[in-house]
Amino acid sequence: MFCITHKDSDSRARAGVLETKSGKKLETPAYAIVGTNAEVRCIDAREAERAGTRLIIANTYHLWRELGDSLNSFEGLPARIDMPGSIIMTDSGGFQVFSFGFGREHNTGKVGILRTADFPRAAASQENLVRVTENGAFFTDGRDERFLGPEESMKIQERLGADIMFAFDECTSPWSDYEYTKKAMNRTHRWAEVCLSKKTNASQMLYGIVQGGVFSDLRAESAKFIGSLPFDGFGIGGSFGENGMGGMVAAVNDLLPEQKPRHLLGIGTVRDVFKGVDAGVDTFDCVVPTREARHGALWTRDGRIDLKKSGYVNSTEPLEMECSCEACSSRISRGELRKMFKLKDRRAGKLATIHNVFFFNNLMCKIRKAIKEGKYKEFKSEFLGIISRYGIV
Ligand SMILES: [Zn+2]
Repeated sequence: MFCITHKDSDSRARAGVLETKSGKKLETPAYAIVGTNAEVRCIDAREAERAGTRLIIANTYHLWRELGDSLNSFEGLPARIDMPGSIIMTDSGGFQVFSFGFGREHNTGKVGILRTADFPRAAASQENLVRVTENGAFFTDGRDERFLGPEESMKIQERLGADIMFAFDECTSPWSDYEYTKKAMNRTHRWAEVCLSKKTNASQMLYGIVQGGVFSDLRAESAKFIGSLPFDGFGIGGSFGENGMGGMVAAVNDLLPEQKPRHLLGIGTVRDVFKGVDAGVDTFDCVVPTREARHGALWTRDGRIDLKKSGYVNSTEPLEMECSCEACSSRISRGELRKMFKLKDRRAGKLATIHNVFFFNNLMCKIRKAIKEGKYKEFKSEFLGIISRYGIV
């Protein structure tokens, strides 16, 4: 169930409450912290909770491969993750169709690259490990092939037992041409219907995924089709190209049922969060807070800080002024944390992860408050005004 409580008058931004079938509630907009293998790397469940985490997304493909036959006796993600107050999502495995497939062949991530004259960047490309058929995808490791299709994805996700599941889809590369993207989108549509028909557990929610790549007409077609199906909510997946994300997501959201929640898959820098919220997105997930923390990058009110840079060697500044996360409360300085990273001290990744997770959860909290108070536009322009003075956001 989803209830929109406030709407912004200058954009599509909205605040609401998402309630799962088991009665867990989440205020939106919210950010899902990635727990690929049913844990947030570097921190434990209590630390994740204290850093404000109320939404977590685990990876169906990796859990399927890791658990193997023991999936049949798996205790379920709620017990494994041990964060009773948090809503758990599982992705569908569709992203790995891309990341092990054209993502490798085209040597690209799903965000930020428009087709240009230097396509394909063959020199750096790797072998495509995925063979996509009309029924699903075959993943190879060079020796044997494992098959994942819509029916298999639903069975696995029901065994994993998340509150919210996603329909199996094919996430295409930003380099895929119109014909291929259209073919993949039509497959995603057929798979969406299979997922709905194969779902057996009434206590889980199922989101359909809109695809269509960088092509506006395909995005519109996909939003209309997926939006017409009886899903509990909608994911917006795939690539948008470097500059098209905000406008394209807004156009997709205008075609989706207004009263159902919308999740933007795998996108979540600060600037992208604001673009998504502007476009009417309710939830996000991205590896940015956790992965970047492990590589020594902190997200702060002063922008993104790369502790690997030598300028922080003697810095006595706190990680972030006025941050009340556990890491900042320990009064560790940027210079000290840099040194811990250099010495490969395991506490470095923990402290940076706690800070980044808190930063993004706290940002969402401030965005919700601003929408509710009718001050979202002012809040956004002030926040981005300060943060962009310092570089990457
Ligand atoms: Zn902090």
